[in-house]
Amino acid sequence: MSDLVNVKIDGRPYQFEKGTTILKACKSIGIEIPTLCYLEGIAEEGSCGVCVVEVKGSRTLQRSCITEVTEGMEIITNSPVVREARKTNIELALAHHDITCPTCVRDDNCELQTLARRLGVKEVPFDKIGSFYEKDLGGPVIRDPSKCVYCRRCVSVCENIQNVNALTVAKRGIKTYIGAPFDLRLVDSPCVNCGQCIMNCPTGALSERDDTDKVWEALSDTEKYVVVSTAPAIRASLGELFGLPAGTFVRGKVARALRLLGFKKIFDTNFTADLTIVEEAHELIERVKNNGVLPMTTSCCPGWIKYLEEYYPEFIPNVSSCKSPQQMMGAIVKTYFAEKMGIPKEKIFHVSIMPCTAKKYEADRPEIDASGVKDVDAVLTTREIARMIKEAGIDFVNLDDSDYDLPLGEYSGAATIFGATGGVMEAALRTAYEMLTGETLEAVDFVEVRGLEGIKVSDVNIDGVNIRVAVANSLGSASKLLEKVKAHEENVHFIEVMACPGGCIGGGGQPIPTNDEIRLKRIQALYKDDSERKIRKSHENPYIKQLYEEYLGEVGGPKAHHLLHTHYTPRSPWEALEKVSLNK
Ligand code: SF4
Ligand code: SF4
Ligand code: SF4
Repeated sequence: MSDLVNVKIDGRPYQFEKGTTILKACKSIGIEIPTLCYLEGIAEEGSCGVCVVEVKGSRTLQRSCITEVTEGMEIITNSPVVREARKTNIELALAHHDITCPTCVRDDNCELQTLARRLGVKEVPFDKIGSFYEKDLGGPVIRDPSKCVYCRRCVSVCENIQNVNALTVAKRGIKTYIGAPFDLRLVDSPCVNCGQCIMNCPTGALSERDDTDKVWEALSDTEKYVVVSTAPAIRASLGELFGLPAGTFVRGKVARALRLLGFKKIFDTNFTADLTIVEEAHELIERVKNNGVLPMTTSCCPGWIKYLEEYYPEFIPNVSSCKSPQQMMGAIVKTYFAEKMGIPKEKIFHVSIMPCTAKKYEADRPEIDASGVKDVDAVLTTREIARMIKEAGIDFVNLDDSDYDLPLGEYSGAATIFGATGGVMEAALRTAYEMLTGETLEAVDFVEVRGLEGIKVSDVNIDGVNIRVAVANSLGSASKLLEKVKAHEENVHFIEVMACPGGCIGGGGQPIPTNDEIRLKRIQALYKDDSERKIRKSHENPYIKQLYEEYLGEVGGPKAHHLLHTHYTPRSPWEALEKVSLNK
């Protein structure tokens, strides 16, 4: 029996695989049906009704994202009735929507605005229905219900990709509410601040907390010495916000733009990615040699850390105690750098530019500061620094390159791939191999841990010892992997977890849109940088060696431990609710 069905679309005959939705069938022949709520593989519930088409013989219009083609089906994608229905659905969405485009954070890439234009909406012929709910402020992820179009993409992403379930749909009709359950603020919910809901929201209903004013204020304060450090992933993505193709490597332009903004020193978080690897590889080897707790997992992703504390607290002893590169940079800037420069740490204001919304949360964790003052004073996402560069009138695309400042601006190829899923694992293996064997590792490319699969498992032979490693790409994948480890179905020594699909190149603070095609381009840019670096192993970074010699002492020693390591706390995902209940 044939698996193909014969279908007519707009009068022309086609054949498609059985089970294909009308939406996908049309896309494959070059007809792009508009959608508002649809996200392939993530949100396919057909809630917005924008993708309707006519199907001959059906009394009502059909939602193309959930209707499959069948033998003999005749579909009309562009009739007056179809166009009118699509337009009406967008007009209804706009009736609920607070149309304040010039002040909206998504004005330059709003899907609602694009659809309204595409479908010829010229006015909203319905009475305005205001929002019934307040803005949800307080944490790194901000919700503005007045801009919500109830597409439910955020709910699907949080549930299906991240397995966090911090968002839900409550109430009905014009009072529909999308937010954390039990009227909690997101900051009091199990939300891990990964920002993946922001990345998939079609409007400005979800965004990061804007910390740019705080940084402008510091830059104009003559009493402050303002320094900045930039994460591995942003060098492969920031250019997109200025119209450059995805994956354009813009490290030199980033440094120049930051100097023009007035930062006194430009440091590279890649430097402390190298430092993280040195400490983490040392910790792994100690655990392997001394029958320590295994599998060890990475700790550089704050989205993963909060998820672990809430949903897998039994794995806390497995997590490396190393701080993330952001927080290691913070500690080193406010101690080593401050002392070397003779600047009181209280005068230094340290800004961190990250692809990540969870890093805003991490910088505020009470246990994280090691210098006696706040180690990281402000965290800006890729999108926020782009806004500052634009506000300053800097012609980013035509900037010449500048370099970063030494010693905290030097890095190895291993550090730069931290931004991609599998990169931390590969970087750690390069260093762990040489620490364990004392021999030079010639073939540094561990290609088996690269790529966008959800879970990658691989065996690596180091000096006759088999080390089994696993990489989890997203929290949903991490959860699946940990369940297997718990059930003794997977026996691994070392696990990398990054919360965001693709790793930090797909982080919640990155340019919108981000999809797999764009993720791969950003990843390629990082691996190219790695392959072109003279030094490709973290422990060979000469300024890392100097830091240990001049200041930290032994790798994993007391001073390194004080400044570069931290601890984690089990917490209930619903602890805020429990507090509320107790007070009743
Ligand atoms: S930030 Fe992440 S965890 Fe929080 S609601 Fe959004 S998707 Fe869910
Ligand atoms: S917050 Fe955004 S993604 Fe979530 S339902 Fe509203 S419009 Fe859709
Ligand atoms: S994967 Fe990267 S961007 Fe995403 S939450 Fe973790 S550290 Fe942040």
